[in-house]
Amino acid sequence: MITKLLGRVFKARMFKSAKPRIIALAAHGIRREQIGSCALRVCDGLQEAGFSAFVVGGAVRDLILGRAPKDFDVATNAKPEEVRDIFRRSRIIGRRFRIVHVMCGRELVEVSTFRGPATEADSNTQVEDEHGRLLRDNVWGDQAQDATRRDFTINALFYDPAKEQVWDYHGGVADLGHKRLRMIGEPVQRYREDPVRMLRAVRFSASCDLDIEASTRRPIQSLATLLNHVPSARLFDELLKLLLSGHAVDCIQRLRQEKLHQDLLPFLDAILGQDSGERFVMQALKNTDQRVRVGKTVSPAFLFATLTWHEVRSRWQAIQARGVPSIPALHEAMDGVIQEQTKRIAIPRRFTSDMKDLWLMQQRFEQRSGQRPFRLLEHPRFRAGYDFLLLRCDSGELDPSLGEWWTAFQEADTDARVAMLVTETKTPNKKRRRRRKPAASAAAAIVAEG
Ligand code: ATP
Ligand code: MG
Repeated sequence: MITKLLGRVFKARMFKSAKPRIIALAAHGIRREQIGSCALRVCDGLQEAGFSAFVVGGAVRDLILGRAPKDFDVATNAKPEEVRDIFRRSRIIGRRFRIVHVMCGRELVEVSTFRGPATEADSNTQVEDEHGRLLRDNVWGDQAQDATRRDFTINALFYDPAKEQVWDYHGGVADLGHKRLRMIGEPVQRYREDPVRMLRAVRFSASCDLDIEASTRRPIQSLATLLNHVPSARLFDELLKLLLSGHAVDCIQRLRQEKLHQDLLPFLDAILGQDSGERFVMQALKNTDQRVRVGKTVSPAFLFATLTWHEVRSRWQAIQARGVPSIPALHEAMDGVIQEQTKRIAIPRRFTSDMKDLWLMQQRFEQRSGQRPFRLLEHPRFRAGYDFLLLRCDSGELDPSLGEWWTAFQEADTDARVAMLVTETKTPNKKRRRRRKPAASAAAAIVAEG
């Protein structure tokens, strides 16, 4: 109650005081041409209609850091309906946070209306849960108020492409210069409003190479459990951003330092506690970072499959030790891990089914006789399965000769492939035939195989 009250008083004070420092081109160096064409069209269109419009957030931060922005967001004093009326190809989306998507060709720009602080009378437009988490935030405000409700000072920078000016309300440019990540306002209050900001702190500190300022960092460990109250779909989105930031290795290490990982990745500590598990996960994250940095795509399913593989593997072994045959044991292990993992973060079904495919493929790589390797090559996700296999070899889980065999097998022509086939070792096949023979369908399958 007291925290809530103090929060309100603080909020009121904080929202009054912000005045921008307007920085000219000579000091910040960002040229209009560096802004994406769609964002320029949106800003120009809004300004011609008499509204103010700025490129805001990550793009301005990245340009000041000398990096190429991923995308451009626009902030304006026009209401969502007014924005929609100006741009033919646009639509209003969101409920928790209403914004407008404007399309130019295949490019998309997100336009958000300046937000302000809520008053008691706004209870329909700004709603909190019992932990202080904002459930909806659709109270309009002015630009200064909008700057103040953003998360970090470095994300509260506005760029006016017409005047080539940066408007800095909270000292974000100086913080970037000092390599400092600083929360706007009172950190505890701001994390309570939105616990995801703790994950964002980790992501920006790693990806922009910033130190988290002491008072912004201090409350994180004790508030980490607030992440439990965040919808699991949002946690998935945020965790994915973190893993695809090009700094996944660093992000995961920092998440662990801040004790933020326990609720998100419940198996991570156990996996990283084993040498081979740690080598495997770290190698996977390193490869991901390299791919992201050169602009290659990364499959979320592959990533999550690597993050939990060693747990699947140890369960698989334990279940087999109970006498369950290999394949049913693998299914039981996969289902158990996926069920527990998706309780915390909502990995979409299409990804969990790809994860299972990847894992199931792994035992097929061990079979190098007859038609099986040829059939495995035809698998639609062969490439991902093979990359996964190589990671297992690189991390010492498997003999590297297996990965080398598959590399050579892919490169060989048909005759050479046939010559490479391994003569079957007797025991597993005998067992398999004996088990499958009595079933009519299995017999049919064997005929089909031949
Ligand atoms: P990225 O480069 O990853 O896109 P970004 O800073 O642009 O980084 P977005 O998630 O695209 O991040 O958000 C755009 C802007 O919206 C942020 O820069 C910040 O000003 C504001 N913002 C986003 N999420 C929050 C949040 N949880 N709390 C407060 N402000 C936020
Ligand atoms: Mg962004």
